[in-house]
Amino acid sequence: MALYVYKFGGTSVGTPERIKAVAEKVKKAHDAGDQIVVVVSAMSGETNRLVGLAKEMQVQPTDREMDVLLSTGEQVTISLLSMALHNLGCEACSYTGAQVKILTDSSHTKARIREIEDTRIRNDLAAGRVVVVAGFQGVDEQGNITTLGRGGSDTTAVALAAALKAKECLIYTDVDGVYTTDPRVVSKARRLDKITFEEMLELASLGSKVLQIRSVEFAGKYNVALRVLSSFSEGNGTLITYEETEMERALISGIAFNRDEAKLTLTGVPDLPGVASKILGPVAAENIEVDMIVQNVAESGTTDFTFTVNRNDYLRARKILDDLCIQLGGKQVSGDNGIVKVSIVGVGMRSHAGIASTMFKVLADEGINIQMISTSEIKISVVIDEKYLELAVRALHKAFGLDQE
Ligand code: ADP
Ligand code: ASP
Ligand code: MG
Repeated sequence: MALYVYKFGGTSVGTPERIKAVAEKVKKAHDAGDQIVVVVSAMSGETNRLVGLAKEMQVQPTDREMDVLLSTGEQVTISLLSMALHNLGCEACSYTGAQVKILTDSSHTKARIREIEDTRIRNDLAAGRVVVVAGFQGVDEQGNITTLGRGGSDTTAVALAAALKAKECLIYTDVDGVYTTDPRVVSKARRLDKITFEEMLELASLGSKVLQIRSVEFAGKYNVALRVLSSFSEGNGTLITYEETEMERALISGIAFNRDEAKLTLTGVPDLPGVASKILGPVAAENIEVDMIVQNVAESGTTDFTFTVNRNDYLRARKILDDLCIQLGGKQVSGDNGIVKVSIVGVGMRSHAGIASTMFKVLADEGINIQMISTSEIKISVVIDEKYLELAVRALHKAFGLDQE
């Protein structure tokens, strides 16, 4: 008898029929003798619907109330799934994050899990019940409901798998595994049988939303066997693993992209110590996350400073820079909220030269201008105009030999 954590995303529980299908799948595994904890997301579209309702009440609702609201989506699904299981004659019991006691910090809308109380779940499992847990939510020390950030049900599942020492954490979704890039953008994308934690972490943090970044971090840290697979078809999906050997042949394992980017530039600022912190300090103080940063070589005592932020933060960041420009005696502020970031990722990059130049040549041959570049040991990212996103991803996918025949 083994313990598994199954997670079903929004599309997989998007209709009553799909919830019933999930119940069938869970019952089958349970009947075969496994202990099953199921984590579910809100029905597809529900979280966005709730965000829309909140906006009708207030332009900027407090994060605390947002969490109270958004956590309801998952509460609907856990009860419905338990009912569907009962209807099949399978004993099941549902819990919200707070009921389990998934203890988090108090950073509303992006809380981090600190501890999981597992007594209740273990007792249910021992009594032969399927345990159904609401994803994406927890409770802080003061008893406030918290949520874990968009896509957070993945993290709930992995954290439960770690706490319960599950044999495997199975993330059931609407694609049958992790692909070389988003299969909705490149039809020739290939499913990977395995991918390293390191690469998955890069892909997730560079925009592949198939797994929430924190779930991958958590799985890596607590050594959780993690697999992504389809709710709708059979197959082994993709295993996220520590092993590298088999994959070392591939220079590039995947291509990620992020559409939610915007770029800001402050030109003609004095090239003096402390300027970067004078620019980024006020931006950070407004809780705006900065991604890429580029400062030009100074010419005649002044320099240009460019950075990227999430597109949602563009207008706020622009306002800060407009004020700073006057204070710092800069020349002008410019910006573009129609840019995207495309990144190639692969552990094979460590031992091979020339990957960056290949990437740049491929983009040049397509007439795509690179606006910014950033590299790390296993990834190269470029910022380009959003209108070239699909073209760039497809061209790179082909050039690095990732297309399936
Ligand atoms: P869920 O609701 O099950 O959590 P998500 O929408 O969060 O599902 O994640 C699955 C989606 O991730 C897929 O439908 C796919 O479009 C997208 N995706 C992005 N990059 C990749 C990739 N490299 N491999 C597979 N899917 C990807
Ligand atoms: N329902 C939440 C969201 O849409 C959490 C999740 O699905 O993982 O982001
Ligand atoms: Mg998701």
